[in-house]
Amino acid sequence: CIMKIVDIRSAFLDSFQSLGHQIVPSSGLVPDNDPTLLFTTAGMVQFKDILMGKEKRSYSTAVTCQKCVRAGGKHNDLEQVGYTARHHTFFEMLGNFSFSDYFKEHAIEYAWSFLTKHLKIPKEKLYVTVYHTDTQSAQLWKKIANFSDSRILFIKSQDNFWAMGDTGPCGPCSEIFFDHGSHISGGLPGTAQQDGDRFVELWNLVFMQFERTLQGDIPLERPCIDTGMGLERIAAVMQGVHDNFHTDGLYHMIKTSKLLCPNASSKAFSTEDIPHRVLADHVRSASFLMADGVLPSNEGRGYVLRRIVRRALRFGSYINAPLDHLSELAPYLIHDMEKTYPELLRAEALIKKTLLHEAERFEHILAKGMRLIQESKSCIQEGVFPGEKAFQLYDTHGVPIDLIQDILSDEGITVDHEAFEVCLETQKASSRQYSLGSQGSVFRDEETENFWNSVTQAHHPSEFCGYHALEHEDYIQ
Ligand code: ATP
Ligand code: MG
Ligand code: MG
Ligand code: MG
Repeated sequence: CIMKIVDIRSAFLDSFQSLGHQIVPSSGLVPDNDPTLLFTTAGMVQFKDILMGKEKRSYSTAVTCQKCVRAGGKHNDLEQVGYTARHHTFFEMLGNFSFSDYFKEHAIEYAWSFLTKHLKIPKEKLYVTVYHTDTQSAQLWKKIANFSDSRILFIKSQDNFWAMGDTGPCGPCSEIFFDHGSHISGGLPGTAQQDGDRFVELWNLVFMQFERTLQGDIPLERPCIDTGMGLERIAAVMQGVHDNFHTDGLYHMIKTSKLLCPNASSKAFSTEDIPHRVLADHVRSASFLMADGVLPSNEGRGYVLRRIVRRALRFGSYINAPLDHLSELAPYLIHDMEKTYPELLRAEALIKKTLLHEAERFEHILAKGMRLIQESKSCIQEGVFPGEKAFQLYDTHGVPIDLIQDILSDEGITVDHEAFEVCLETQKASSRQYSLGSQGSVFRDEETENFWNSVTQAHHPSEFCGYHALEHEDYIQ
């Protein structure tokens, strides 16, 4: 019998609870203790102050299943989504934490026992990495897992050393990898081919054993443990698939997305699944973000949300997805996950309306951008689209530079941003000279504004407070 996402989530929480950990609910996607962080990117975010020694709680060990978004900011997987079987913009991170309670030995023992005893994953499928100076962890892996040297990979890069910032707690990590088999491409961590879906990182154990100061790293007397395991990745393992999008958490949406696009496809992707992975994933992250109070806008978090939605719309347009595709997909996600995350259900109407509205607003500009870029293809040289041409599309036709770059990057082409900036500066300087204002071109979209006015009149304003930015430009310029 196959373990579903709900079963794995509760198995993890229950088994760490029985080891004495406090079950702590997921915090929201907008961190309330850190204005510098765009979104919650890991389980440890809500415990940051405890790990820094600034706050005390009644428990010294905890276990969570945390909602995470990695799109924008330091952790940004947005551009990878669709092209790998293991990256999402929204995902759930399972994690156990020790606040100066147990350290390396128990952390390794607990992880090993959960994977191999509780979930019964064969030991032959697992590899671990350790930071190259962390011989202590390597010894523990040998002792606890009875691993030979070939199963323990010493990594020099900062991938295996975690630090909160320029100062604060830091320490080496040990990551557990699962081998999906030689029919999938990709190499072992630390090798040149590592960026494939064969050896997938399941679980990262962070050993916070130093305090980083301006004078160097000082050993902590009472170190901490922070771990994170992607729920979708462990679900893929448990369900015998290599692609997270084929697990019970996402497959339904992929299938529905395909059904809703009977007239696919104009553009060839290496895998038919790529655009549908993007659509399913982005509807999920956009819905979760809206349920946590983020709405599309032109700055900060709202802007990242808008870019997520627009990336989905772009991929949708490649396969002739109908305009209401995202808003039609959203209910499938909501009803799949509402039991665990009731905030989704509360926000359902808002989510559907917003997704449709964003699609309507973006439709004409996307179509225009794609047509104009198609017509300008001949000027691409060695994978670079000239900045002067990009400026012309922007200045004469109102196609935002971000959109030009996004459309081209789907084909591995970059825009010469420097040349674009030079054109922009020159134009600004000359318009100042002739007192024409420094705005350059302004593209007003009267139809959208009229639509917006009617919406705000029909609804309670607070329901739509995120929309005030509609008055501004579509993209930051
Ligand atoms: P990767 O190297 O695969 O990008 P990571 O090292 O960036 O992962 P961590 O920061 O160590 O990831 O996060 C802990 C765990 O969360 C990972 O081991 C993985 O299982 C999961 N995870 C990280 N990023 C994603 C993502 N974008 N989508 C799904 N799961 C993720
Ligand atoms: Mg990563
Ligand atoms: Mg990694
Ligand atoms: Mg990692």
